[in-house]
Amino acid sequence: MEITPNCLPDFIDAVIVTIRENEEEVTALDQAIGDGDHVINLQRGLENLKAQAPELAQLSWDAALKKIGISLLGSMGGASGSLFGTLFISMSKKLEIDASLNLEAMAQSFTFGVNETKKRGKSDLGAKTMLDVLIPVEQALQQAFEAEMETDKLHEFICDTALAGVESTRDMIATKGRAAFMGERTQGHLDAGAKTSQLIICAIVKVLDIKKAST
Ligand code: ADP
Ligand code: MG
Repeated sequence: MEITPNCLPDFIDAVIVTIRENEEEVTALDQAIGDGDHVINLQRGLENLKAQAPELAQLSWDAALKKIGISLLGSMGGASGSLFGTLFISMSKKLEIDASLNLEAMAQSFTFGVNETKKRGKSDLGAKTMLDVLIPVEQALQQAFEAEMETDKLHEFICDTALAGVESTRDMIATKGRAAFMGERTQGHLDAGAKTSQLIICAIVKVLDIKKAST
């Protein structure tokens, strides 16, 4: 199955649905150790993307990801807006124009994007942020590529890795972002950005599963 930017409108719709279904939980998470606006920021960004979906579907992968990043950067606000924006804009830089999005290209692009996001946030694994999902998923994609993992197994592996990543934030003490002000009191809570990153990743994987089953 070839994954082209034609899939983007379906990805965006699926992400909007999963964020809506989980909005109360995510808001409660950001209220507990942040300021409670994470879902609103993300939903504003997603609505903007939805308006651009038909146009995005016509672009090459590199141009589409760049446009997504710029749109998120301009519309979301919050720490997460600049981080998600950086992720997508950086990913676009590692994709060759019109190259198909195979596992190797996806892993390389995602790894580069996550590394740039780390730099942007001056953060890394263990700080109780979205990176506690993004970094393990980036590593899982690399492993899957090296092991020539089959698609079915790959999808489960990626989603399970993302879920384990969110769960790993529960016992962490936040050292980055707004939550860092609360120090030890952040222990026992999941990080909101880690949760939405996981929801986004699992929603995209699910769309790919459905598409694969129908080919
Ligand atoms: P804000 O914190 O500005 O209100 P959001 O609520 O939209 O922005 O996003 C908060 C999320 O952003 C956190 O849950 C965390 O995952 C992520 N985050 C915040 N600061 C950083 C950072 N320095 N590095 C990586 N992720 C971060
Ligand atoms: Mg917030």
